[in-house]
Amino acid sequence: MYNPQSKKAEEFISHDEITETLAYAQRMKNDRAAVDDILVKARETKGLTHREASVLLACDDPEKVEEIFSLAFAIKQEFYGNLIVLFAPLYLSNYCVNGCLYCPYHQNSGIARKKLTQEEIYAETVALQDMGHKRLAIEAGEDPVNNPIEYILESLNTIYGVKHKNGAIRRVNVNIAATTVENYRKLRDAGIGTYILFQETYDKAGYETLHPKGPKHNYAYHTEAMDRAMSGGIDDVGLGVLFGLENYAYEFAGQLMHAEHLEAVFGVGPHTISVPRVKPAYGVDPGSFNGGISDELFEKIAACIRIAVPYTGMIISTREGRQVREKMLQVGVSQISGGSRTSVGGYDEAPEEDTRQFEVSDTRTLDEVIQWLIGFGYVPSFCTACYREGRTGDRFMELCKRKQILNCCHPNALMTLKEYLTDYASVQTREAGEKLIEQELERIPKEKVRDIVRKNLGNIENGQRDFRF
Ligand code: SAM
Repeated sequence: MYNPQSKKAEEFISHDEITETLAYAQRMKNDRAAVDDILVKARETKGLTHREASVLLACDDPEKVEEIFSLAFAIKQEFYGNLIVLFAPLYLSNYCVNGCLYCPYHQNSGIARKKLTQEEIYAETVALQDMGHKRLAIEAGEDPVNNPIEYILESLNTIYGVKHKNGAIRRVNVNIAATTVENYRKLRDAGIGTYILFQETYDKAGYETLHPKGPKHNYAYHTEAMDRAMSGGIDDVGLGVLFGLENYAYEFAGQLMHAEHLEAVFGVGPHTISVPRVKPAYGVDPGSFNGGISDELFEKIAACIRIAVPYTGMIISTREGRQVREKMLQVGVSQISGGSRTSVGGYDEAPEEDTRQFEVSDTRTLDEVIQWLIGFGYVPSFCTACYREGRTGDRFMELCKRKQILNCCHPNALMTLKEYLTDYASVQTREAGEKLIEQELERIPKEKVRDIVRKNLGNIENGQRDFRF
């Protein structure tokens, strides 16, 4: 029985409710009046239910699809402005006891295994700082012996502790396997940003087939992980479906139900939603799964997510190439990775063996990505202020809902971009970035804020760092 308030996975992600939602979406998708009503509601920018959003996703009337795309972009601009937050993944260890069929880390896959030592993590962090990164997402396989929680905590401590030139990693998000409330509390106490865990698929039967062994086989334990994370005091959680495995429409409805569940139980939805697609990897052929989707459909899914959960950040990684990422930015993505390596290590020096989790499609350097963003008029942001000022969970959502991003995040973005330009950018990027900052200063609504930003930009030129509102 479907119940968003329930703490049981099979009740808040009800298979019957998803099946009925998909049938409802098929019935309504050609009903222009119904689609228009949903679009009217969507324009109020308070979000949509999983049923309403599923109708939009199913709708294939070209005129309406066009409206969906432009509305998604408008919503992104309204809440997040033209800011794009940048981060990089850092793979700590690919030891893993699970059997995920799509992942080259699965046990007995034959991939070369590696786990970074604390000295190596230090060196990787220095290399990432020298690229200009301020935010990381750490990643590890699930292995209680090789990658226990103590290893993750020690690694966080190492990363936050690196003081190198003007660099600093100011926010570390964590993408590790589902764990206990007690361990989530330890991660919270270690100062993590978002706890990210991809559901992979909401379809229980498909899930169990794709995860034939290891702790991850347990659908309920995995699906209820965000509840445990939030009970352990982690305010910001990040969801994700691995598109390409199972039926996208099922996943879409399930993911929105998951967001509705978190909102119903904890009063705040997911901080971010990532949109990964399964990619070629060591021993993994994406064509061997049932759920492959075209680029166009992928973009439509992202647009519908943006409309359904307007206050949730949306993340796209370098799994996707430049062209897809360009389109995804137009439909509401607010965070991207840049200059990424998916090998264990690989920022400090090229790894000796292939330990990559998947093949990266966007192989540009961070500087190239920054220059590309600036070329489109986006403001690349390395801001980490909200989390460091305690604006997490519902406090961040309030800021976003009150459309205060232009008064707060936008000036912070400009100051962190200035740091990047001063410390790490190429000559061309610096030139383009300085021009962009001048233009963007005029968009800060409050004169007082603008004056403070101008002063701080000068201070950054003179060697000071880390200003924020
Ligand atoms: N081991 C943790 C877990 O079980 O959630 C951390 C996850 S892993 C390091 C990060 C994510 O990469 C996975 O959740 C999965 O969605 C994704 N991934 C695995 N294999 C992939 C592939 N071949 N292509 C694209 N993404 C993949």
